[in-house]
Amino acid sequence: MKVLKFGGASVKDADSVKNVANILSLYRGEKIVAVISAMGKTTNALEKLLSAYYYSSGDIDEEFSKIKAYHIDIAKGLFTDSNHEIYSELENIFAFLKTKLLLPNSDNYDYEYDQIVSIGEIISSKILSAYLNSAGINNSWIDARAVIRTDHIYREARIDWTKTVELVKDSMQFNHEKIYVTQGFIGSTAEHITTTLGREGSDFSAAILAYSLNAEEVIIWKDVSGVLNADPKYFDNTIKLDQLSYHDAIELAYYGASVIHPKTIKPLQNKKIPLYVKSFTNPKIEGTIIRSDKTELAIPSFIFKMNQVLITIASRDFSFIAEQNLGDIFYKLSNLGVRINVMQNTALSFSISVDWNEKKIPELIKLLEKDYIIKYNTNLELVTIRNYDNETIERVTINKEILLEEKSRNTIQMVMRDIAIL
Ligand code: ASP
Ligand code: MG
Repeated sequence: MKVLKFGGASVKDADSVKNVANILSLYRGEKIVAVISAMGKTTNALEKLLSAYYYSSGDIDEEFSKIKAYHIDIAKGLFTDSNHEIYSELENIFAFLKTKLLLPNSDNYDYEYDQIVSIGEIISSKILSAYLNSAGINNSWIDARAVIRTDHIYREARIDWTKTVELVKDSMQFNHEKIYVTQGFIGSTAEHITTTLGREGSDFSAAILAYSLNAEEVIIWKDVSGVLNADPKYFDNTIKLDQLSYHDAIELAYYGASVIHPKTIKPLQNKKIPLYVKSFTNPKIEGTIIRSDKTELAIPSFIFKMNQVLITIASRDFSFIAEQNLGDIFYKLSNLGVRINVMQNTALSFSISVDWNEKKIPELIKLLEKDYIIKYNTNLELVTIRNYDNETIERVTINKEILLEEKSRNTIQMVMRDIAIL
């Protein structure tokens, strides 16, 4: 059996949903689990709705209506019969959401996030499943919350692997069914409270299901032709990587390449399940295959992270930054959920580059300032080059001032800013 994952861009309108049906029909006769993300930019829209609800920072009705209208519109492009049961299903889901929004919120933002934002995946999978059935591609809809068992860490839930494998195997037996349609990104606790696995977590869901079912392969369908050596947003002349080892894929994802969710590879690697990244607009062309392979990635790859803050932490009394301070600093970072993108230490200071976040970073700085001397610069960019050489370094540092540089045999990371041209 194979696991096929379709991201938001692949189901962003009625034509896209039809395209997904075409892709699935290429697999006729095979056992398939289709994992679906929320449609288009629905997750962002639901986050806005949540803010309106939780922080009263917007108009709940307006955000709600936009999301509802967007989905009804897609349904209309797929189901001409206005009595089709999908319409009453959608009405029910939106009525449920509406009721939720009328209740007072709990004081746990992350909990509310998971209850509200998870709806995007429920809706998209309902629409896709119904459309496939109407197009003669028979399938069963599976509620991922009944099979992906997690702990209670809302928005970043961790998987209970033993229980999940058991539940997935139980409910996806392929006895009468060849195709199951389910959601990415969501799961639930043992008490059946909905959780989510982190933004862009649908890739990870596909890997969890593949792991549980010992899939032959996983295919992630994207709007690019495969894994590229740099993000085309920041770089001309990108090259598609035909093959990658699990190791290189993990490294690229770790440094922030937005191709695949970082947690996706490990479960696949454990079971040696190959992962294909392919284009949903060009399903016949070969994409990238990620599999166990000793060969190292020969092509330089570039990962850009914008909006970086470089924070330099020094002790107040000119003492060394040693294990004890480092332990304390890491503890504060992890408590706030701030992830280090690159770090460097000297005798008297410790520097880190982290993603800017308007809530967490000022809080972090305030906290650190109690015990340390803090200097920081915002609006920086971090470039990571895997398999660098002098030429590639020169290429990305034109007109840049480098504030921090970390080099290993394979990888260089540079935190930099534009040189002000006077
Ligand atoms: N819909 C979720 C998000 O946009 C999960 C995903 O697409 O992977 O983050
Ligand atoms: Mg998405």
